[in-house]
Amino acid sequence: MSVLRVSRTHFPVTALGPGARLGVWVQGCSLACKGCMSQDTWSPGGGVDVPVADLVALWREAAGRGADGVTVSGGEPLQQPEALREFLAGVHAERGAADILVYTGYEESELDERRRNAVEFADVLVTGRFDITRPTALIWRGSANQRMVPRTDLGRRRYAQHVDHEPERPPLQVRADGSGIWLIGTPRQGGLAALERGLRASGLPVESATWRLRSPGQSG
Ligand code: SF4
Repeated sequence: MSVLRVSRTHFPVTALGPGARLGVWVQGCSLACKGCMSQDTWSPGGGVDVPVADLVALWREAAGRGADGVTVSGGEPLQQPEALREFLAGVHAERGAADILVYTGYEESELDERRRNAVEFADVLVTGRFDITRPTALIWRGSANQRMVPRTDLGRRRYAQHVDHEPERPPLQVRADGSGIWLIGTPRQGGLAALERGLRASGLPVESATWRLRSPGQSG
């Protein structure tokens, strides 16, 4: 069985998709969107190799705790198409009523056969590169060009109400672990700077941040 290069996982994620979800952030992205908030996931040499079987076991555990779905983000999930497909097939085989949401920086028109196969089991895709010049208030999207595309009956039933939804505030989670704090969700323009100011005001200086590791244009 293959391995997926993973940056991190978390349960419950409540800021990227409906309900409480298993979040899987893959490692490696060569698309290098200016202003990407997850630049720590760009290098294919970062993160860790996780056997797909272990990730499916993680899903099983999350499902046992009432997970409503899986969200795969990154990094660029479609740059590991075979392992991604295997993971999503494993989730799909024992998902019950849970849904599968995958974020990709690729447009639908850029999905070749390998990439299309990779997301065969996804109920919903959020597609398109992050474009810092096109801010948005749409839920679970980072910029106005990104499209939420339900692909199955379950995806349409569960996500139709969210496709054009603009909440007053974006859902966000802040998590802390041994290496620092990290943000889950899609903050609005200026949200990351506001977070840094808030942390400083609370006596927590931000020494480095995943949204300004590299200068614009520098790639993975
Ligand atoms: S926002 Fe762009 S650069 Fe960042 S992980 Fe997504 S596709 Fe890659």
